[in-house]
Amino acid sequence: MTTVDVSPAAADADELSVWPASTTPLPCGDLEVGGVPLAQVADRFGTPVYLLDEAEVRERCRLYAHAFPHADIRYTAKAFLCRAMARWVAEEGLGLNVCSASELEVAVAAGVPPDRIVLHGNAKSPHDLEAALRLGVGRITIDSLPEITRLAAAVGPHDEPVKVLVRVVPGISTGLHEKTSTGTGVQKFGLSMTDGSAHHAIARVLAQPELELTGLHCHLGSQITSVRPYLTAVHRLTGLMARLHQSYGFTTRELDLGGGHGIAYRPGEPALDITALARTVRAEVCQGCAAAGLPVPRLIVEPGRAVAGPAGVALCRVLTVKHTGARTFVAVDGGMSDSPRPALHGVRYAPRLVGRLSLAEPTRVTVVGRHCEAGDILASDVPLPGDIRPGDLLAVPAAGAYHLSVASAYSPVGRPPVVAVADGYARQVVRHETFDGLARQDVG
Ligand SMILES: *Cc1c(COP(=O)(O)O)cnc(C)c1O
Repeated sequence: MTTVDVSPAAADADELSVWPASTTPLPCGDLEVGGVPLAQVADRFGTPVYLLDEAEVRERCRLYAHAFPHADIRYTAKAFLCRAMARWVAEEGLGLNVCSASELEVAVAAGVPPDRIVLHGNAKSPHDLEAALRLGVGRITIDSLPEITRLAAAVGPHDEPVKVLVRVVPGISTGLHEKTSTGTGVQKFGLSMTDGSAHHAIARVLAQPELELTGLHCHLGSQITSVRPYLTAVHRLTGLMARLHQSYGFTTRELDLGGGHGIAYRPGEPALDITALARTVRAEVCQGCAAAGLPVPRLIVEPGRAVAGPAGVALCRVLTVKHTGARTFVAVDGGMSDSPRPALHGVRYAPRLVGRLSLAEPTRVTVVGRHCEAGDILASDVPLPGDIRPGDLLAVPAAGAYHLSVASAYSPVGRPPVVAVADGYARQVVRHETFDGLARQDVG
């Protein structure tokens, strides 16, 4: 028989399961991340502020490298990018996935070797393609028919052919939020396998001497917590590989399975098991290729959220507490401008009081941002100590991905700074976007 540990320490351990591994409770009620107390970060850099635990980012990169020893792992920059982040993932041996000329410039400025960078995008601008060719990215993903001719025309007559992947849509529903599902037939990304457009595009690419097709790419969506959709994708992609081999004698050398690996935002939520994913995907690829008599392609995976998400912590300060009818609204100095995911994707967070010890009974509250929008809700119906009051600090774990990268300068409060913590030191890696800076852009 198993016994359930109901001690406060066990409850804390459970609650801290979605925090960086370095997180340690302090006797004063605060938490330490990367050896730095959160209240100290708030005092020194102001709120709202984002923390990034460097060791957690590196550890997540190593987890992938260990699980996928024969694959290319590319961190997806759109989850979160700054020069420090690009440097850390590159030092851990990962490549980078970008979807704009700006992300590409940041990556190259941080020292990521361009041949380890891939450019994605359903509508790449002439500027994006120019930057990719000028800086010599490793791969460009073809996402539409017009892009084939446009890219081929941009390659100089004496240049080497550009290595490309074709992004195909295997027609798999992940059953997720419609704004995060990208593997089904009806959305703006990629070329459908079910209506023949993928096959057609591949034939066109093969006929372009300026382009060198290295393989296929697919990305099923986001926040997927089961390996099954990936196995279905591999099954369909190896089928396509066999048909391409038959029709054109084309051998797929690279199979890019995208990202979308889900993480837990609240204790008890499921996360995708990366080790199980690696093992089952490799077995499925090997089996599919053996059945079709094809060589096994090199695998590529592109995690974004699963690398950056769990390494980030958002810190904000309570401005007001309001009791309206039966509800208690706790309003903080951040909101949808720096944490857009609740408003955008309908997700909810697990904020926690930090910086002081409270022995008050928990009460259920709704944590809202400071913006004049009814949808500016960070967490609804979550427990916080009953004596929660203005000046208190709230911390939100798993806040490293799709927060700041999607943030806006709404109202314009300006985007918060990012502070990297490691070995007891805190260092600002992205400055606060100030009103002075924003005002300079308004030229009257
Ligand atoms: C966004 C994206 C990813 C990463 O998705 P995550 O959910 O952050 O893992 C990978 N590949 C492509 C093409 C993407 O657009």
